[in-house]
Amino acid sequence: MWGRRLLSSPLSPGQCRAYRARAALAQLSHVLEAELESIRGAGTWKSERVITSKQGPHIHVEGSRGGILNFCANNYLGLSSHPEVIRSGLEALEKFGAGLSSVRFICGTQNIHKNLEEKISRFHQREDAILYASCFDANAGIFEALLTPEDAVLSDELNHASIIDGIRLCKANKYRYKHMDMQDLEAKLQDAQKHRLRLVATDGAFSMDGDIAPLKEICSLAQKYQALVFIDECHATGFLGPNGRGTDELLGVMDQVDIVNSTLGKALGGAAGGYTTGPKALIDLLRQRSRPYLFSNSLPPAVVGCASKALDLLMESNAIAQSMVAKTRRFRSKMAAAGFSISGNDHPICPVMLGEARLASVMADDMLERGIYVIGFSYPVVPKGKARIRVQISAVHSEDDIDRCVEAFTEVGRKHGALP
Ligand code: PLP
Repeated sequence: MWGRRLLSSPLSPGQCRAYRARAALAQLSHVLEAELESIRGAGTWKSERVITSKQGPHIHVEGSRGGILNFCANNYLGLSSHPEVIRSGLEALEKFGAGLSSVRFICGTQNIHKNLEEKISRFHQREDAILYASCFDANAGIFEALLTPEDAVLSDELNHASIIDGIRLCKANKYRYKHMDMQDLEAKLQDAQKHRLRLVATDGAFSMDGDIAPLKEICSLAQKYQALVFIDECHATGFLGPNGRGTDELLGVMDQVDIVNSTLGKALGGAAGGYTTGPKALIDLLRQRSRPYLFSNSLPPAVVGCASKALDLLMESNAIAQSMVAKTRRFRSKMAAAGFSISGNDHPICPVMLGEARLASVMADDMLERGIYVIGFSYPVVPKGKARIRVQISAVHSEDDIDRCVEAFTEVGRKHGALP
């Protein structure tokens, strides 16, 4: 209607353009407000607490007085603020600059990038590795580069969003099997025999439940049906398995898992970055074809320096990883003794299962009032009726920190009727 008015109006061409631009913005704002309101109405609005200190077990949070005990970071080994990791990052920043202002294949590859890739492949005992700006990018870039319409990908239904998005981008035939259900995977593998390549894709450890993929069974099905195995090790690299190599080491199948994607942004220093490690020919192909690698900037030197030192520390000794294991056991057993139900198996992700969304939310608020930062998750992030508070243990929590957390849970649980 306004278009017709414009035609007959005495406005100059410049005024017409400005009017149209304002109308477009007004229309956008109307659409966005409706969308934002629907998120608020659904109770799924995510707000962010602002930390005013380094990441670690003890943090300061804007608006809260005093120190807060942090139990919700993926800082499994406490390396995000390890002095040697920080020093290594600073040295790399000094020597190699703030960044490359380039993608890798134009003029963005430094010796530190090549060294880190070599170190990652040695850590995982694979042939080669390729760095990305994040594991989200590594997952977004691998399936499209590797699989064609002749191939098939079989994905656990609870895989991380980045795997789901990566699979959406590829043209392979897609199968989604029920979470960790080997009968369903086998049925889907049988159906997928008609395709050229088959790739089974799973998270090694699932972040909402702290459960671990049955890799032994997956690998033996993969052998039976001549399939490749891909795992996302974001919640495993650095701390699962006797030497922290991940779920494949934990379950004794390092030689049977073909491709590993993981992050530098959690246990390995926590800065940023991700990677794929696996057969050399695959890594060569990713350097030629993987779009997030080809068309995005190189990892900044400081980030490379931090991750490289984190890997050195882990390759020197498994003491940090083992300390995380002991603390996880302490938390899980004390919480079970107090009467709570904790999902998952021996993983530092310890979901305290509460059922009702409201209960999880008020208990998490009360925990923060007692100086303990934990997060409640409810539908649609987890299934209806399975609301929980997710606690994440780190090697740098002291035994006293863990005991304080359990005591606070017990008090708050009794107050809200989650415990008798
Ligand atoms: N995969 C899993 C299982 C994750 O939990 C995450 C991060 O939350 C990612 C991939 C993405 O990792 P990044 O933060 O390096 O992009």
